Amino acid sequence: MKVLTLNCGSSTVKYKLIDTDNKTNLAMGKVDRIGMIGATIDIEKPGGAKASHEEELLDHVMAINAILHLLVDPQLQILNSLREIDAIGHRVVHGGETFTGSVLITPEVVQTLKDNISLAPLHNPPNIQGIEAAQAILPTVPMVGVFDTAFHTTMPEHAYIYPIPYQLYKKHAIRRYGFHGTSHFYVSRRACEIAGVRCCDSNIITLHLGNGASATAIHHGQSVDTSMGFTPLEGLVMGTRCGDIDPAIILHIMDEEKLSLHEANNLLNKFSGLVGISGRSSDMRDLEDLYFKGDKLARLAIEIYTYRIKKYIGAYMAVLGKLDLLVFTAGIGENSPMIREKSLEGMESLGIHLEKKKNDGLRSKEAVISADDSPVKVMVVPTNEELVIAMDTAEIVSKHTS
Ligand code: ADP
Repeated sequence: MKVLTLNCGSSTVKYKLIDTDNKTNLAMGKVDRIGMIGATIDIEKPGGAKASHEEELLDHVMAINAILHLLVDPQLQILNSLREIDAIGHRVVHGGETFTGSVLITPEVVQTLKDNISLAPLHNPPNIQGIEAAQAILPTVPMVGVFDTAFHTTMPEHAYIYPIPYQLYKKHAIRRYGFHGTSHFYVSRRACEIAGVRCCDSNIITLHLGNGASATAIHHGQSVDTSMGFTPLEGLVMGTRCGDIDPAIILHIMDEEKLSLHEANNLLNKFSGLVGISGRSSDMRDLEDLYFKGDKLARLAIEIYTYRIKKYIGAYMAVLGKLDLLVFTAGIGENSPMIREKSLEGMESLGIHLEKKKNDGLRSKEAVISADDSPVKVMVVPTNEELVIAMDTAEIVSKHTS
């Protein structure tokens, strides 16, 4: 089956065309700056042509149309006709408590997503716009929604209920949902394949360290706790988000600095984390450069970042009782030997023995980076959320059409 995966943000659409029969990428790319001056669209064929151009793209319908035009561009030789697209898989950030797995998109599903907008006011509206735009252009192509929250719906109540009045959970659905689920799912399964162990017998901690970052404790294949919470703001330190802080700080700053809700939200989501501490950049590559140049605040940002990762590993080891695999993924997890090393420093007594030779210089490649006799196998597994979206889409669509 040829499945087009779409990941729609407010001004971006990331896409990948995947042949699910042999799990290969046929094309991928991104539309940027939708609705702004200077919108761009790019496309790449694995090991082949790359193209990028500016185009006036006022909304998601125009953006998806532009992607489809490129996919059937005779010069690029990707598809002869749009009829070759068998299905579309949409990444949807928040499935609330309703969606515990991927689903065929029906009018009822779209309505439920709309009903759940208050849970993810920044993320779900562009996801819904993407679904409606794709349906308007390709009304007969079946579509599937794959949710970032779904993998975490196996968490027990004691992990997802917050210690605030219980009525607030009942009234406003305030609970831990967790995000990056598709990534945690993929790398945990792939790590088991590489290690030659069965997921249903293993305990795993997965660390997704990208611009956003989260840790997940996985017991016998199921998520039992994760660091992001009601929103993606909780947990690890991130590029621009603060992660865990004392909630009283927010009230105090709002009062002292006379901040509105909107300003406080921006402060915690856009101006905190690595960029907030360092005052320089949210990009780990910049911070590593500054670290080696002796920049004090960049150094502090990296110390806080890796200390927080270490704390979560310790907490989740306690949750799981015994740990078999520890997996690093996403931009920083896959590419930064320094962050991996600093996060695991001094954890030998807990059975985590990183092997420097294996870790140093390792980037964007599947590998075991712990010593051969390390009780916990430490691994790097590049994530592939689009493959999960495409495979789920193919499976659900074939069930409905068979
Ligand atoms: P997103 O959450 O936007 O998908 P990514 O998974 O692409 O983010 O991760 C982006 C992060 O990965 C950035 O902080 C970037 O600096 C970091 N990163 C990418 N390559 C490297 C590298 N070689 N060394 C250190 N950090 C890297």
